[in-house]
Amino acid sequence: MDGRDPYQVLGVERSASDAEIKRAFRRLARQHHPDRNPGDPAAEERFKSIQSAYDSIGSPQKRREHDQAEQFARFTGSGPGPRGLDDLLRQMMRGGAQEPPREPPKRGIDIELGIDVSSSLAESGGKIPFELSRLRRCKRCDGNTFRTGSNCAVCNGRGVHRRESTVTVTIPSKVAHGHRLRLRGLGNEHPMGTPGDLILMVRVDPGEGRRWESERLVQTLHVPYTAMLLGGNVEFNTPSGRTIRMQIDAGSQPGDRRRIPSEGWQGGPLDLELAIEDVGELTQEMIEALENLRNLGL
Ligand SMILES: [Zn+2]
Repeated sequence: MDGRDPYQVLGVERSASDAEIKRAFRRLARQHHPDRNPGDPAAEERFKSIQSAYDSIGSPQKRREHDQAEQFARFTGSGPGPRGLDDLLRQMMRGGAQEPPREPPKRGIDIELGIDVSSSLAESGGKIPFELSRLRRCKRCDGNTFRTGSNCAVCNGRGVHRRESTVTVTIPSKVAHGHRLRLRGLGNEHPMGTPGDLILMVRVDPGEGRRWESERLVQTLHVPYTAMLLGGNVEFNTPSGRTIRMQIDAGSQPGDRRRIPSEGWQGGPLDLELAIEDVGELTQEMIEALENLRNLGL
């Protein structure tokens, strides 16, 4: 990691689904690949930071670790930067290393993480397994060595240690993207007090060619260049699978948006964003036609 926010580097929201992150990475990696930008050291740098951003949030497990480390950092006010978990824990329990010792909080801290669901599961609702890593009260000393200075071979006198488990999460039907589920008592345990909560933010996979902007669904609509300039009709599929034919106005630009009411997620609006269709390999005929256009000053 080069210290930059990987979400920012990949141009995705924190609420983006894992699949969205993967697609954003693929697109950017293609765009900035050194082979595509020979002799451009800046492109190579960009490519490296894209790669490094993807390394830290590209797999569900890495992403959970990254998000949790960020929460610890926020909680302890230490900001980003490599810190040992021990340091963080010590600060967490003491409430800041520089301050005089005070009563420790009697409740473990909450864990906030995202949970990815397919659009069909978000629609129907159902149960889904979730890999959870959290601080549990020590099995050997039951938290009794916490702040006593005595040692415990399992928790090193912290009273808690990190353990993995699989929890089953119930997703309500017709759940909204960004909805928060609170699972009481499934956050970090405290050596002496009560456990915190687990808060799961539901991330609905928007599907290929779509992305979330807050709670709004944006779909890229690929349009032939000539249709942008001259106007024309294009067909596209909505998230619910309906095919819609739409008129493109002459003089449209890439990035222009059109809002279609009730065709988005669960009857909400769908924002279409125009992009130029990739024509792939140009034929000799196309090249000649384009050369004619260039001669006309277009
Ligand atoms: Zn222990």
